[in-house]
Amino acid sequence: MTIRVNNIRISLDDSLDRVLDMACKMAQVSKKDIWDYKILKESIDARRKNKIDLVYQVEFKCNNESRVVARANSKDVLLDSTNIDENFNFGNEKLSKRPIIVGTGPAGLFAGLVLAKTVTDQLFWKEVQVLKKN
Ligand SMILES: Cc1cc2nc3c(=O)[nH]c(=O)nc-3n(C[C@H](O)[C@H](O)[C@H](O)COP(=O)(O)OP(=O)(O)OC[C@H]3O[C@@H](n4cnc5c(N)ncnc54)[C@H](O)[C@@H]3O)c2cc1C
Repeated sequence: MTIRVNNIRISLDDSLDRVLDMACKMAQVSKKDIWDYKILKESIDARRKNKIDLVYQVEFKCNNESRVVARANSKDVLLDSTNIDENFNFGNEKLSKRPIIVGTGPAGLFAGLVLAKTVTDQLFWKEVQVLKKN
């Protein structure tokens, strides 16, 4: 079981150490009490030009995880036993048609990347087609 902390915001000038400091603060645990700390996600929130943030999701282990999460009492501090490694369950039925991804936003491009990496004898990367508007 791990603790996952979402929505950790740091500024562009902050060092990466600040992510762990913030995670500890949000979960109300001391840095020395945590182990297996891992950054799961890093994104940029550039919606406000005068305040661009880096936003992180991290996970870590510590003692009494359920108690820590209950005490933190925050929607951003969660108990998690699921493994979010990129394990996608692909079907094993042969496709009768080539897959088409509509839209080249982040979701469409990521779907294309995942499909392209999943090269099997029935699907080659060049057969993945991403349709862009216009
Ligand atoms: C003003 C603004 C600022 C933002 N800033 C940030 C930020 O700083 N950081 C951040 O993490 N997120 C930001 N977001 C959110 C981020 O843009 C979205 O979460 C993300 O784009 C969603 O990705 P998506 O692939 O699901 O959808 P989209 O990015 O919307 O992609 C869908 C794509 O499909 C295309 N499409 C739709 N219909 C068709 C069709 N019929 N045929 C072909 N193509 C089609 C669209 O043109 C589009 O390119 C911002 C959003 C907005 C609106």
